[in-house]
Amino acid sequence: MKLGKVSNSQMIKEINQQKVLRLIYTEGPIARVDLAGKTGLTQQTITNIVNRLLSENLILETTPTSNGGRRRPIPLVINSRNMYAIGIELAIKYVRGTLMDFQNNSVKEVTEFVPRYENEEHPMEYIFKVIDQLLEHVPDQEGLKGIGFSIQGLVNSNKGTVIYSPGLRWRDFPLKKKLMDRYGLPIYLENDANLLAIVESLNGKLASSEQSIVFKFDYGIGSAMVINRQLLHGANYVAGELGHYKAFTGSDAIACHCGAKGCLTTFASISGLKRNAGFTLEEFSKKVRANDLETMELFEKIQGAIAKAIANVITLFNPEHILFTGRFMDKIGDLLIPLIKKEVLALIPDSCRNVKIIVLDETPDESRSAAGLVMNHFFNVPFNEFY
Ligand SMILES: [Zn+2]
Repeated sequence: MKLGKVSNSQMIKEINQQKVLRLIYTEGPIARVDLAGKTGLTQQTITNIVNRLLSENLILETTPTSNGGRRRPIPLVINSRNMYAIGIELAIKYVRGTLMDFQNNSVKEVTEFVPRYENEEHPMEYIFKVIDQLLEHVPDQEGLKGIGFSIQGLVNSNKGTVIYSPGLRWRDFPLKKKLMDRYGLPIYLENDANLLAIVESLNGKLASSEQSIVFKFDYGIGSAMVINRQLLHGANYVAGELGHYKAFTGSDAIACHCGAKGCLTTFASISGLKRNAGFTLEEFSKKVRANDLETMELFEKIQGAIAKAIANVITLFNPEHILFTGRFMDKIGDLLIPLIKKEVLALIPDSCRNVKIIVLDETPDESRSAAGLVMNHFFNVPFNEFY
């Protein structure tokens, strides 16, 4: 919902309606009486809101379970069959899109591989190609509620701009505006690590967590910090740039694309391994598993650097949970993470040692998560990030 210039009572009415809609989404099927109980609103207010939502076709009444002939309250559900979202994963080597319905079924998936982006307009060609193909499969255009993006780079999700993404050749790029001009739909952007933190905090492995940090080791390195269930953006939307943590010293401190030296990403990422050690992730994993001496030396340096960086971040932020993900960890996390865990626990102070370390089995499909971002916004209650 949009909050324009409206009166206070109108605003409260809209917030209440959005609260009810979100509860039906997260807890439906749910009866009117339970909506009143959970929101603290009166039965009459709930009746008015539910009538409005029914007339707008946003919710449906379902059949109550029978109870020996006694009348049971009618459960309400979201009318999700005719609601859709498009999610786009904007990676350095490909653009991947998924059209999903609001019941989390994938309707159509499209991937376009990119040899190399030539200039700042070039990624748009691939993005349009993917979205245009997906649009052909939307059964009812009215039902399409928006397009969400997961982006490897620094994103101002408020303004809808990409602050910096070296791989996409973007600097202060107005992605949201360009897409709204063409499609006229709500557009949502989020950095890939932040998006993971949002999705996992909503209904995933971090659902119970108030303080968590996500570490994504992939083509580059990203991290996202959730403090008191709010995503920490920082003054310029660049908080959590763990890739540029100073991790290597002496002769191991190599120049980074950011202009500094010795950054964690210069070795502990897919792009860093390739650029500075000449390995693909596949080759690196094979040589480590074959106990190749020279490669093992690099492996130990990387393991030590990651452990130190993460121990320092834990000492600063005292999170309840930290979560590892990304294709770098998908490939060699089985060897790397047990060692990192052990070293991190040995490095952090006693007071922080109850931190729980979680590893995702596999990096989630980010185009699906990006579609989830659209759904989350559609059911969002203003002034409240995750509830
Ligand atoms: Zn750097």
